[in-house]
Amino acid sequence: MSNSSDLKWLGYAIHDTKQYTDFKVIEFEPKRFEEYDIDVKIEYCGVCGSDVHSVTGGWNDPILPLIPGHEIIGTVVRVGPKVTTLKVGDRAGVGCRKWVDTYNAKYPNGDIAHGGYATAIRAHERYVFPIPEALSSEQAAPMLCGGLTVYSPLVRNGAGPGKKVGVVGVGGLGHFAIQFAKALGAEVYVFSHSDNKKADAQEMGADHFISTGAQGFEAEYEGLLDLIICTADISCGIPMSSLIKILGVHGRFIMVAIPDDHLPTIQSFDLVKNGALIGGSHIGSKKDVLAMLDLVVEKGVKAWIELLPMSKCGEAIQSVKDNHVRYRKVLKVDI
Ligand SMILES: [Zn+2]
Repeated sequence: MSNSSDLKWLGYAIHDTKQYTDFKVIEFEPKRFEEYDIDVKIEYCGVCGSDVHSVTGGWNDPILPLIPGHEIIGTVVRVGPKVTTLKVGDRAGVGCRKWVDTYNAKYPNGDIAHGGYATAIRAHERYVFPIPEALSSEQAAPMLCGGLTVYSPLVRNGAGPGKKVGVVGVGGLGHFAIQFAKALGAEVYVFSHSDNKKADAQEMGADHFISTGAQGFEAEYEGLLDLIICTADISCGIPMSSLIKILGVHGRFIMVAIPDDHLPTIQSFDLVKNGALIGGSHIGSKKDVLAMLDLVVEKGVKAWIELLPMSKCGEAIQSVKDNHVRYRKVLKVDI
C-alpha cells in the first residue's frame, strides 16, 4: 500500500506577510492520513494570483508559517484503503480546493493544510486528478487553477460554436480564456487597455482585438456579444459600463478576477437596455477539470509558462504581484 516512508515533508514558507518574498524551507506535518487520502510527491507547482494575495495578507490573516501553492503536479506514492480512482505511481494533480482550502486553512480536527511549494501534499481523492499522458507536468500545473477558473464559466455560460465571447484582459487568466473560448468553438473578442499584447492575443486565437484605451471604443460593438469573461481588475481603467453595452440581449458579464478594490459604479440603464446579467465564478468542479484536460489534449491548448526552480518562489511571487508574467510561472521542486 505504501512506499512513502522516504517521503519528505518540506516546503517553502513565509513567516511574515510584510516579508512576503522571504521564503524559508521548513519541515511540516501533513494532515493525519485517512482512508480516502492520497500522498502526492510533488514535481511542479504553478504560481497563482491567490498565492500573492495570501502571502501578502490581502484577503485575511494567514496561518503562519504559510506554504502556498494550488497548481500541483506530482506522482502518487501512497493511497488510502478506500481510494479507487488513482494508484501508486500514477501522475496526479491537486488544484484549488474550497472545502478546506488547499493551503492557509485548518481541517476540522485542527490539522493545517499546506500548499504545493513543497515536496509533498496529502489530499482526499476527491481533490486529486489524473493527468492525461499527452500533457506534460509543467503544462498541466497552471491549468489546475488558472485554466479551470476560466474554463468552467465559459462552459457553464454557453461558450461554443455560433457564440461570440469577449475576454477582458490578457494575463494569466485571460491567456487561458482566449484559448479555451476558441477551443470550444466560439468567436473570440479580446479587450485590453492597450495594444501591447495584441500579437500575443492573436497567437492565442483571438479573432478580434479591441483596445479599450480610446473613448467610445464600444460604439461599433454594441449589442454584439453573448458572453464576457472578465479576467482584469476593472476597478482601474477599463470602464465596466462600456463593456456591458457590448453584450447582446440577455448577455452575461462574468467576473473571475478578484481585485482588492470594489467594482466600478454602473448605471442601471446600462443593464436594462439589453437585459444583461452580471455574475461571477470561482474555480470549477472535478468534472470540469477532467473535461478541461481532455479539451487541452484534443485541441492542443498551451499554457505560456516561465519555468523556475522552486527556490526562486519569492522572485516569482513578486513578478506576479507586479504583473510582469507572460503568462504563468511554474516552479520545479528543488528540495
Ligand atoms: Zn489559484
